[in-house]
Amino acid sequence: PRRVVVVGAGMAGVQTAVALREQGFTGSVVLIGAEPHQPYDRPPLSKAVLLGKAEDSAFDVDFEALGLELRLGCEALAVRPEEHVLDTSAGPVPYDVLVLATGAEPIRLPGSEGVPGVHLLRTLDDAARLRPVLAARHDVVVVGAGWIGAEFATAAREAGCAVTVVEAADRPLAEVLPAEVAAPMAAWYADSGAELRTRARVARVEPGAVVLDDGSRLPAGAVVVGIGARPATAWLAASGIGLGEHGEILADDHLRTGLPDVYAVGDCASFPSGRYGERLLVHHWDNALQGPRTVAANVVGEAPAPYDPVPYFWSEQFGRFVQYAGHHTAADTLLWRGDATGPAWSVCWLRGRRLVALLAVGRPRDLAQGRRLVEAGTEMDPELLADPARPLKTA
Ligand code: FAD
Repeated sequence: PRRVVVVGAGMAGVQTAVALREQGFTGSVVLIGAEPHQPYDRPPLSKAVLLGKAEDSAFDVDFEALGLELRLGCEALAVRPEEHVLDTSAGPVPYDVLVLATGAEPIRLPGSEGVPGVHLLRTLDDAARLRPVLAARHDVVVVGAGWIGAEFATAAREAGCAVTVVEAADRPLAEVLPAEVAAPMAAWYADSGAELRTRARVARVEPGAVVLDDGSRLPAGAVVVGIGARPATAWLAASGIGLGEHGEILADDHLRTGLPDVYAVGDCASFPSGRYGERLLVHHWDNALQGPRTVAANVVGEAPAPYDPVPYFWSEQFGRFVQYAGHHTAADTLLWRGDATGPAWSVCWLRGRRLVALLAVGRPRDLAQGRRLVEAGTEMDPELLADPARPLKTA
């Protein structure tokens, strides 16, 4: 191919462009991004950037030196696969190869649109709007006790805001962790001075308050909604591309889509995991780092191995470093390493005797060793595994 067009200038798009050059692609690379800002990294937005400890989080990539053409403030509107043309807000763009890396969009709270003081936290602009909220120490209500909700609550407490977190489920992170693992995490909210209200549903949001369906009224100088994200693929509806139940692009094990010469990578796409025997839709940074290497290898004709990562992510919340590697289901056996009321502990999931996933809180060595064991599919001894004093790799 002579011309690769990448849609979405977030982590996955930028890494694709960089990986193409690293792997020797000499044709033209056009990177199209809807946001007007120099491409930037998202994880710092709910951490250092929010607290004003970092001005921004622009990627340290010299686009010009790499010969990567950036077209910012330009929105992709549709793909015409037969003609190999991408339609954008700045006109049609022909491609030989197209890479879809449009990421995800936060889900909005129904009825909250247009209400002043309601925020999302996905973009640099969102973070810029939230900084003064923290600086002014407004009372904040966070809707959703997921990763973003926990990280925002952490930053808001650090800034000295009164924080109430409203969660519809009976615990934080209910969609990703079982009750016994989430239970100790619920205590972190109270320890930090935030109030966590579980089994609480928002009836409506008014200027200055959130009203719950039990009638209670929570004063809110600002409301931050963190109830999940959906692949940003609505613009592809008429393009004939296969979309899954969450609106994600259904890629194959080489991150190819059903359209000729079109790939999809990052938060916008799912892929079949040979390792886990199911399709994975991963909304984490590491996937947006690893996937692009597979895409680039395909484009330069390297015939790479199937994309079959051990998913990994981290979160910084309430003074803890939380890391997870792998993928587990409710059918896997859960084993504790250490005391969950203490500052550092891990949880392992075994399928048979194979380690398939682990969550490490303040135990980065467990994570590093565990990640390799998961990758290798090593059989473990459950009894040795449960001893937190023993290095994981010797269990
Ligand atoms: P995105 O980063 O969403 O980038 C996609 C880009 O495409 C966007 O800039 C968007 O504007 C653009 N775009 C969308 N549609 C179009 C269109 N039609 N035309 C042109 N451009 C378009 N992960 C972790 O593992 N650890 C963390 O601690 C962590 N912290 C996070 C904190 C925050 C606040 C957020 C929001 C995410 C965090 N993540 C974290 C998740 C991680 O940032 C994402 O998984 C990663 O950004 C995904 O990269 P992506 O390039 O696929 O998508």
